[in-house]
Amino acid sequence: MLRIKGSALQKIIAQAERDYPYETCGLLLGKVDTNLRTVFGAYETPNANPDRKHDRYEIAPADYLKAEKKAQEFGLEIVGVYHSHPDHPDRPSQFDQERAFEGFSYIILSVNKGKVVSYRSWELIDGKFVEEEILIFG
Ligand SMILES: [Zn+2]
Repeated sequence: MLRIKGSALQKIIAQAERDYPYETCGLLLGKVDTNLRTVFGAYETPNANPDRKHDRYEIAPADYLKAEKKAQEFGLEIVGVYHSHPDHPDRPSQFDQERAFEGFSYIILSVNKGKVVSYRSWELIDGKFVEEEILIFG
């Protein structure tokens, strides 16, 4: 299950709409307690995919390290990844699933004509994405 601070979710939504028609992406900073991930902040990362930004995203290792440092400053860790699907549903693609890690939350936002219309969070269990509940707090 994922708990996310309302302000972090608002930031992600605004970022997804701003970056339309390209995929936006970033990392979720928070804490993990067994199977509950609590997100306090969203760390924006540039989409490093060189030529398919409309339907792929990539986070550069250097940006990942920067996010990790930022998280540590606040006593947090990276607990997941978020990205958008311009003009596509909020379901993970085969490509998303192949590159995912267990123990992370994956928020996917569906952006239709520049507006976020839905979002869901997914976790990888035995190599398959399973939807997880999102609770908003604060
Ligand atoms: Zn995707």
